Amino acid sequence: MSTDYKPAIEMLVPDSFVFKGQNDHTFIVIHETGDSSFYAQDTARYFGDINANPGMKSAHYIVGRDGVVVQCVKEADGAGGNCCAEKGHEAFLDPFLHDNFNLHSLSIEHASLSPDNSAGLTDSQKQASFALIQHLADAHMVPKRLPTNDGQGGIMGHHHLDPISRARCPGNYPWNELWTYLKGSPVTDYKQKSAYDEWETFISDAPTDTEIFQEWYRDYVKGVFHGMCLTHEVTRTTWDGIVIIKQYFQGGHYEYSNKTNRATWYPVK
Ligand SMILES: [Zn+2]
Repeated sequence: MSTDYKPAIEMLVPDSFVFKGQNDHTFIVIHETGDSSFYAQDTARYFGDINANPGMKSAHYIVGRDGVVVQCVKEADGAGGNCCAEKGHEAFLDPFLHDNFNLHSLSIEHASLSPDNSAGLTDSQKQASFALIQHLADAHMVPKRLPTNDGQGGIMGHHHLDPISRARCPGNYPWNELWTYLKGSPVTDYKQKSAYDEWETFISDAPTDTEIFQEWYRDYVKGVFHGMCLTHEVTRTTWDGIVIIKQYFQGGHYEYSNKTNRATWYPVK
């Protein structure tokens, strides 16, 4: 098992705590613990302990005050981070509230020493947080901005969803510094554009809202190129009702099954 993000330590919560393979990664939600924690590992242990945490709360990542990043939920899964929208929530969330908001969001907790999150982040915590957000935004094509009403998502605070009970989540998060940091990564925007260009080279209308595209793109951004797309998706249903979707590339093919909800890569032999 490896983390989705190289610098992170893996301390996953049990599978029964998460929404397996059901995340469409539209939003990144920033949280602060507000409960006097210093180390990410302590919060991770709490998340994973059913007795201490019967509500099965979790986040994908926790950033400690020492800058250590711990992964608790795989990026493909929905975490128990963002429950129910409160009155006064931002209008940009409306199209995403018909089901479970955890299926549309990646959550990052930040260890805090003040109950009202007023202390802000430490320097190493801030650097670790920015780098993690950049990774998530690149890997899942989350726009690097506050969300607008265009339905494309973005990076938001928990208070945008729950302005009453979570008005201080996060507290003094350095938003302006974050936007400056994310703008300083033009390579990324170039990569994103060239990924789309490569994808469309031979099949100009191959859809990009599919699991297979997501996997292909995730690898592309990491520097693993599977070749250009050669076909549309080919779908068949097995005798026991499992839907298998294949798509062929220069270097091999992807196979997606609705049983696992995952796209697997098979290189040409
Ligand atoms: Zn929160």
